[in-house]
Amino acid sequence: MESKVTEIFGDMVFDETTMKARLPKETFKQLMKTIQGGEKLDPSVATVVANAMKDWAVEKGATHFTHWFQPLTGITAEKHDSFITPTSDGKIIMEFSGKELVQGEPDASSFPSGGLRATFEARGYTAWDPTSYAFIKDGTLCIPTAFCSYTGEALDKKTPLLRSMQAINKQALRVLHLFGNEDVTSVKTTVGPEQEYFLVDKSVYDKREDLIFTGRTLFGAKSPKGQELEDHYFGMIKPRVQAFMKDLNNELWKLGILAKTEHNEVAPAQHELAPIFSTTNIACDHNQLTMEIMRKVAAKHGMVCLLHEKPFAGVNGSGKHNNWSISTNTGKNLLDPGATPASNAQFLLFLCAVIKAVDEYQDLLRISVASAGNDHRLGANEAPPAIVSMFLGDELSEILQCLEEGKPYGIHEKQKMQIGVTVLPEFNKDTTDRNRTSPFAFTGNKFEFRMLGSSESIACANVFLNTAVAEELCQFADELEKSKDFQKDMQALVLKTIKEHKRIIFNGNGYDDAWVKEAEKRGLSNLKSTPEALVHILDEKNKKVLQKHGVYSESEIVSRFEIHNEGYSKVINIEAETMLDMAKKYILPAGSKFAGKLADTIASKKAVCDAADVTYETEMLTKVSSLTSEIYKKVQQLEKDVCDVKELSGDASKTAFFYREHVFESMNELRISADELETIVPKELWPFPSYGDLLFSVR
Ligand code: ADP
Ligand code: MG
Repeated sequence: MESKVTEIFGDMVFDETTMKARLPKETFKQLMKTIQGGEKLDPSVATVVANAMKDWAVEKGATHFTHWFQPLTGITAEKHDSFITPTSDGKIIMEFSGKELVQGEPDASSFPSGGLRATFEARGYTAWDPTSYAFIKDGTLCIPTAFCSYTGEALDKKTPLLRSMQAINKQALRVLHLFGNEDVTSVKTTVGPEQEYFLVDKSVYDKREDLIFTGRTLFGAKSPKGQELEDHYFGMIKPRVQAFMKDLNNELWKLGILAKTEHNEVAPAQHELAPIFSTTNIACDHNQLTMEIMRKVAAKHGMVCLLHEKPFAGVNGSGKHNNWSISTNTGKNLLDPGATPASNAQFLLFLCAVIKAVDEYQDLLRISVASAGNDHRLGANEAPPAIVSMFLGDELSEILQCLEEGKPYGIHEKQKMQIGVTVLPEFNKDTTDRNRTSPFAFTGNKFEFRMLGSSESIACANVFLNTAVAEELCQFADELEKSKDFQKDMQALVLKTIKEHKRIIFNGNGYDDAWVKEAEKRGLSNLKSTPEALVHILDEKNKKVLQKHGVYSESEIVSRFEIHNEGYSKVINIEAETMLDMAKKYILPAGSKFAGKLADTIASKKAVCDAADVTYETEMLTKVSSLTSEIYKKVQQLEKDVCDVKELSGDASKTAFFYREHVFESMNELRISADELETIVPKELWPFPSYGDLLFSVR
């Protein structure tokens, strides 16, 4: 088995080994310069690479190629072209030119652009990203690309991500050179995204319009058994799920994706897959692919993979833990505390940059994970809260406190701690990962940003995180480059940063109501919903930092603001329409039918025997009738809201707020009554599979 895994790993990827084997030496060298050093690629090199890529792909059975890109819809897009080119003798040859590799022109008029691209000038272009390997998926050679408009604005999620990586590279290098690391020539952020998901049986799924149209259940009474026993978490994996995971791993490995661990999650039917971390843009590509392959493999196994953040009310939702760090080309992880005073000082400075970044740009981080689906998790009595805070663990926090107060740390240390002179005391890394409620936790040698939704691309979160940290490193470098006494000034800078930004550090329970009050006292922001969060992307300080580091232009920011608001409104609108449909066509008739049956029973019982007790039937009839009327009224209210929102002007943000404050609230109201009805209507009369049927459908 082991040899088989090593054989299939990366089998469908045009990776470095394959390139080395198939490209002329000179071409390979040139290409590597582009991949590793970011040098511009010569068109003649592209031609040779394209041809080698095509030969390799055709040998592997591919017939088509596509520029694979990540438009602002959050999913990936592809338009397939075949390699065939007719020849004069009526035959064909398989061809693929350098130009086709480097640039494409998808007719992309229907991708959201937030007004960046007038519809008459619909064509954006895709440009090859040689830093992410090409791969074969379903007989198609996929070329990872960036997607831009002809005026150069990014229409995708990848371009800003690459820009943000450049920004942090530039600023981190400045700081590293101050510490004398002249050998370091490039710095990259690394990410390992842990992906949560649910599996349900296809036959049950097919009976739920809400799951089909919206990815989550819009109705559904609590099942008698949920997650209270916690017997699912890390529990035995069911054979059918095991078979799915085996297949999934195989498919991912073929694509060079480092799928590593898998286990059951807290909720029944919930699972998790964690890859080994890689460079951020590759981790992003791979996470998009992972989600796609999960869906496909589940289908092969007669199941449906639910990636929605909250498929079931009252049951744990799904997130994505974005494990993030910064590494140098010399193999050093900059968030790993070192063993010498010098490397400790460097670690502390980078740590301070992250602390300051998270504090000053808490709103950007919150915005980066805002979506209609994630609103059900963040701040809705579930992990993690909408308030951004950082967990450092007791020991590291105490170390910082001792530094700040100029006190010795630990019983054995006699001298007070001094950065760059004292060795940072060894602290127990195991104690850093205990807090599962923190949105942003230090886990020994990396940070885990836990607010991301399970269905979203990880691009946006990393764009904002990279940019915010780049800004702080830039400020540090600006200050320290002028310094005449580096040790002293660095020490002062660290202390100042701890003092000014320690309010963001919180090691307690993030689910606690007391934290909400405490956070408010500390002046931390608590942006509860997507529309509320999104407006802050237009705050001057946020626009400024994104532009300063060349990550987004003003028009790109405004366009994203529009697109995200529109996207939010669309999601809620589809959910509302689906609820109305389900309520009108199924739920109300079911209630009515049950009431009719009860009435018939009462009448027939009484007809046969006037003395017969009809208490149950009568009380139920009253209850069902009143619930049915209530549902009917709430349906009318929701219909009115959906109608009213259409009357609003074209203001995307205002519309999103209306959806949140009216439509969404009416949906919740409707659900309460319908779910109550479900608890009293006989199973054979209820039109949909129950939560019990769904959560325990895979056996
Ligand atoms: P933990 O026990 O703290 O959860 P794991 O080793 O299980 O740590 O890692 C969790 C995730 O973090 C994995 O996806 C892993 O690849 C990733 N990870 C580990 N080190 C780094 C790093 N330096 N940068 C980014 N991600 C990392
Ligand atoms: Mg983890």
